[in-house]
Amino acid sequence: MIKAILFDLDNTLLDFMQFKKETAKSAAKAMVEQGIPATEKEIYGKIFSVYQEKGIEYQKTFYEVVAPYSLEPGQAERIQQAGIIAYLKRKFEVLKPYPEVKPTLEKLRKKGLKLGIVTDAPRNKAWQRLIMAGLENEFDFVITYNDTMEFKPHPSPFKLALARLNDNAVSGSEVSGFGTQNRKLETEPDEVLFVGDHPGKDVKGAKAMGMKTALAQYGQHFRTNDEADYVIKKFEELLELAK
Ligand SMILES: [Mg+2]
Repeated sequence: MIKAILFDLDNTLLDFMQFKKETAKSAAKAMVEQGIPATEKEIYGKIFSVYQEKGIEYQKTFYEVVAPYSLEPGQAERIQQAGIIAYLKRKFEVLKPYPEVKPTLEKLRKKGLKLGIVTDAPRNKAWQRLIMAGLENEFDFVITYNDTMEFKPHPSPFKLALARLNDNAVSGSEVSGFGTQNRKLETEPDEVLFVGDHPGKDVKGAKAMGMKTALAQYGQHFRTNDEADYVIKKFEELLELAK
């Protein structure tokens, strides 16, 4: 019997890739308007090259995009800042949960399931995205990269999630949490369903911990996975799995 569901955040609950694409498009447009000697398409491609090379959470993307061009003093900053502002303006409009995420989470909570997030995102970004998507009150706890300083599939974030599900105090860790309903649950790993879009991180890590796994196939570019117990094409399929 499933007593708890743990979720990856990006591309599982939130349409993160769409968000990165839309914001990159807006930034590229603004940078071309400010005079960067390239087309919008080229700049868009360069933004994604930086993401590819430095990681999608990299904080100096626009600096890296502008740096290779020999621009007059001031012009590089002007273009870079135009890119950042266009990105930020757009980001508040486009980060959305996948369809049916919020009502499904509410139904799962009503069934008495405990819900948590295990994400590799930094803590501040995770909360920013949850609030933008209107999902900040749906979870019993949110475990981010900052809580264990390990990325999935490392066992640490999964172990911490299990500890949280069993209300064990984990000393020295500042686990982001709220709405402590003090629902006492003794939850075994095989009573936990982990939902994620990344076979190598989410499915592999959760499975190694003995959890059940569901691959979010609607999410990223990962279309197949032999390892997951379930594959879901729509978020609301979880209501069937959690029966
Ligand atoms: Mg993901």
